[in-house]
Amino acid sequence: MWYNCLLSELGGPPGVCILVSTEKITNLAPNDQLTSVHQVADRMFPAYTIDEGHAYMAGCTLDNRLFMRVAVNLADGTKYFFLDSSARRLDNAVVTKLGLENNFKLERSPERAETDIARLAEIAQRMVKDEFGDLAGSGAKPQVELAAMWCKYAQGKLRFSIGERSVDLPFADWAATLVPPPFICPYTGAKTFHLSATSDGRIVAAEQIATCDQSGLRLLREDLVICTVSGKLVSRDLTEVCPVTDEYVLSEEMVECESCRQRVSPKSVESNRCSACRQPQRAAKDDPRLTRLLDAHPQARNWRKWTVAETANVLIFNGSGLLKRIRLVLDKDTLKPKHLAVGSRFSPAWTAIESERLDEVL
Ligand SMILES: [Zn+2]
Repeated sequence: MWYNCLLSELGGPPGVCILVSTEKITNLAPNDQLTSVHQVADRMFPAYTIDEGHAYMAGCTLDNRLFMRVAVNLADGTKYFFLDSSARRLDNAVVTKLGLENNFKLERSPERAETDIARLAEIAQRMVKDEFGDLAGSGAKPQVELAAMWCKYAQGKLRFSIGERSVDLPFADWAATLVPPPFICPYTGAKTFHLSATSDGRIVAAEQIATCDQSGLRLLREDLVICTVSGKLVSRDLTEVCPVTDEYVLSEEMVECESCRQRVSPKSVESNRCSACRQPQRAAKDDPRLTRLLDAHPQARNWRKWTVAETANVLIFNGSGLLKRIRLVLDKDTLKPKHLAVGSRFSPAWTAIESERLDEVL
């Protein structure tokens, strides 16, 4: 089919006609674009470092996408513009980005696209008429030249394997502008070109890995904390949060306060007692903590005086009578006893009492 026949019916200005057919239309491609999967692999793989693993292409296609170059020969030179396959006119930035002006001639069309080319040719003709109609109306020579411009579009995915596991990284871009995309760590959201595995086999951003000083395991930094006693960077799982200092401490470094019998950081302990136990406050009658105790255990009123201290987890009540004293270490949320002891006001010794006997000894 000859488009000049088709287009002449559109009522274009005289002298503007298309002298191309689907068989004879020029086919162009940008000089500077990747044209094979091998080239895509060469562009991609050097960007990534895989610790003790490897990368390979897990699928890649290079499609030919049609553009149309419209050349309008005017008295003062040739003007070019480009249409994409939807007949949208490309702005100059896209033309430059895709390298459309730096092209070479293909021997034949890489795809069968007669219908699309006919459609674009028709629209191009209208555009020329709208923009250059007055100027184009004078000459007898052909003044518009159309060419099919074929750009390759690459899409696929890279696969990175370390040990038993692998992760995929999809990519999709013009072959002219394709660059290796960063891998987005699924655990931390960090972007990286360096992948590594944690000790439990997760493939993550290498920059997000650190070694637990205690276990030697390679873990995510976000799963590690500083033990404030040893100064080691350790897995959070190996630590406890001291209820007094609110700091991470290796479980094996935690000690028991001799007074409240709670596990605490040694940093909080002096003379075998945690700082909560060392600083009890006289409980005023309207102290809500004392009110809770009295509501739950009315017999507590039998004791003349109460002091109260607290940690993140417990309330520590010390009651005193004429001769005796009592210590209640109660869960802060439930008031369930965690440690009970009784003693004499005239002796430093305490005797631990089973939790069930709370109401009995009060
Ligand atoms: Zn204590």
